[in-house]
Amino acid sequence: MGNVITDEEAMQRALDQAELAALAGEVPVGAVVTRGGCIIAVARNAPITHHDPSAHAEILALRAAGQLLGNYRLPDCELFVTLEPCAMCAGAMLNARLQRVVFAAFDPKTGAAGSVVNLFASRQLNHHTCVQGGLLASSSTVLLQSFFGQRRSQKREQSQGLCSRNEEQDKPDKPDKPDKPDTIVALRPTNWR
Ligand SMILES: [Zn+2]
Repeated sequence: MGNVITDEEAMQRALDQAELAALAGEVPVGAVVTRGGCIIAVARNAPITHHDPSAHAEILALRAAGQLLGNYRLPDCELFVTLEPCAMCAGAMLNARLQRVVFAAFDPKTGAAGSVVNLFASRQLNHHTCVQGGLLASSSTVLLQSFFGQRRSQKREQSQGLCSRNEEQDKPDKPDKPDKPDTIVALRPTNWR
């Protein structure tokens, strides 16, 4: 047997996928599916790329794992994802009968593993999948914050570019307006997707 991957190593591979998502202009979320301690599927968030609101990293990873194993149930598989799953992904995970789900950062806006709702805790819905949160959470949060920070500064540059085209050229540069408090507060982990 090959080396059995640790939880941290699996999450690190998911974080690698999240970085690739950011490079593609997608919200940086990555996921891997493991079976018997080996990674069998990796995926990154890609709804913009695929024009598909369901193309979250977890869904794409589950699809790849299902194809590989030739089974829509994945009872001896575990899924590692860099952000707390949303309700759609949590539903898919429960349908897949995953053994365990491990996520990194909590998502207070749409998290369906305890932050907003906890679909995994519902006895009626879930008899199979246990869930754990917070593994390498700070690495995931740093990725998300830097992605949204860059996106905000790009938007600022774009709007300043528009201003300078609309205003007379000889006007002195205005000092940068400080961010409104609510813009700064957007750094909190909300609206990740
Ligand atoms: Zn999702």
